[in-house]
Amino acid sequence: NFSHTAPDESHSMPETPNTTARLFEPQGIVNPLDILKRIYGYSAFRGQQQAVIEQVVAGGDAVVLFPTGAGKSLCFQIPALCRKGVGIVVSPLIALMRDQVEALKQLGIRAAGLNSSLTRDEAIAVRRALAADELDLLYVTPERAVTDGFAEMIGDMDIALFAIDEAHCVSQWGHDFRPEYRGLDCLASRFPGVPRIALTATADHHTRDDIIERLALGGARVFTSSFDRPNIAYEIVERDQPRQQLLRFLSRFKDSSGIVYCLSRAKVEDTAEWLSEQGIRALPYHAGMDRALRDRHQDAFLKEENLCLVATVAFGMGIDKPDVRFVAHLDLPGSVEAYYQETGRAGRDGLPSEVWMAYGMADVIQRRRMIDEGGAPDEIKRIERSKLNSLLAICETAGCRRQAILAHFGEAHSGRCSHCDTCLKPVETWDGTEAAIKALAAVYRTGERFGTGHVIDVLMGTVNEKTERFGHVDMPVFGAGKDLPARTWQSVFRQLLATGLITVDHAAFGAMKLEPEARAVFKRERQVFFRKDRPSSGKAARGQKSTSARERSELAGSDLELFEKLRAERFSIAKELNVP
Ligand code: ADP
Ligand code: MG
Ligand code: ZN
Repeated sequence: NFSHTAPDESHSMPETPNTTARLFEPQGIVNPLDILKRIYGYSAFRGQQQAVIEQVVAGGDAVVLFPTGAGKSLCFQIPALCRKGVGIVVSPLIALMRDQVEALKQLGIRAAGLNSSLTRDEAIAVRRALAADELDLLYVTPERAVTDGFAEMIGDMDIALFAIDEAHCVSQWGHDFRPEYRGLDCLASRFPGVPRIALTATADHHTRDDIIERLALGGARVFTSSFDRPNIAYEIVERDQPRQQLLRFLSRFKDSSGIVYCLSRAKVEDTAEWLSEQGIRALPYHAGMDRALRDRHQDAFLKEENLCLVATVAFGMGIDKPDVRFVAHLDLPGSVEAYYQETGRAGRDGLPSEVWMAYGMADVIQRRRMIDEGGAPDEIKRIERSKLNSLLAICETAGCRRQAILAHFGEAHSGRCSHCDTCLKPVETWDGTEAAIKALAAVYRTGERFGTGHVIDVLMGTVNEKTERFGHVDMPVFGAGKDLPARTWQSVFRQLLATGLITVDHAAFGAMKLEPEARAVFKRERQVFFRKDRPSSGKAARGQKSTSARERSELAGSDLELFEKLRAERFSIAKELNVP
């Protein structure tokens, strides 16, 4: 309650909070720490919050890449209160906007949102408050922020800052691309003196670079913090009997709440119903549901202690429930970013939490089909495919999952983590140091310009148009990998990618590049272990694995042909990065 944190102002607090009257006197609360304590009621800044705030208060631009729950909102809210004028916040979802505006009003901060859900009168009231300089923070959608009308409306006003929240929406590499974000660079040219701050919890380097470039933030200070979520335990299993597997996972959680993600609405409904039959309190949530019912289920999830919310990805963004104890995925998400975001909803309170995913070949087919039939331009399809492959690399790593996830975000994690499934119960591996040296040497010798398909041809000593044209047939590495089948080399490259010894430059048609860590392998200071291929049946002789009866039953008959094709391709996933 505000009166507890700011006793001096309590006498001036109206009986019924008036949303346009400021409930605190800004005079005397000029420094950020005072604002944090007296308005928000927190005792200290977290992590780099203070450094970001100081940068923006001083009028500089900032790019903030902190994980979910780190406290990014304060990084623009407090500078907006410190600086003269109104802070304009671009936010992608009306629901998100509404929640934040409500929370700010509760604190006595004069905040409002301008969006299409307002009635005419409400919109007029917001405009009037804005014109009268009675707002500290104004939330707008990106669609509105880029219009000439909006620029005109705020043209003569003092603007404290522009904050662009969920800034990954500007990038196709992010998991939630919003074309309207692309126009937001106009803020830089229209309001050159106003500091801008972009914030996101997605920080792989493609998205990061995109944000800086597309939002014209080349001069901004970039703040990053570790994306490790040490209280989250990771587990990824091959799907076998999904419902029984899910039930076993859920049985670990008594009297706690969590989320079960499914890809389709129908599966959400079925799963929720089935869990209820098993005596687990479960409610469905997806965008196709009646609005009121959906809201009721969301409220129940926020309030109740022992509820399993079965949802599509429509659920989650902006949900701030600190004690989500588990997140389960019954289907493979489309990218590491999406997986990280969705699992990141667990354990925001810092207490131990578990995330679990079951995946199978059917997912790969489904995801591939979604991409192929999605009608996006080829360039986008290529990006989508390589994003999917990066996630598959994490699914298949023999190493630490956490390490692999963090490596994806360009972050090194020293040693195994001891609380992911592969650390707790190491998978069967083989010493692949020699193979890794050959593989890395082949990448290096061919100039770090090729994808796996070509590099494997070089290792296998395949004479073809490409190996001849580039003179690779004359190199010492040519044919150096004949001791292993091509399928094993594909798995080797996939796992080298997963462990971060190589990276794939998707923008350069999947060319593999060595990471500095590869040196230690060359010098034999570091051993490399690879996950053993799963036991294969008769078809393995033809370089394929057979389809289990169970996987067959997951598929409709017409899918089988495609399935067999993809099954073979699964072992050349990295090869697809080569697709121009
Ligand atoms: P993000 O946008 O990074 O996901 P939020 O800004 O929504 O995170 O903050 C997450 C939670 O942490 C909120 O409940 C917020 O009030 C709280 N929080 C932020 N900063 C602090 C702080 N310095 N001390 C205590 N709690 C904080
Ligand atoms: Mg946020
Ligand atoms: Zn681990």
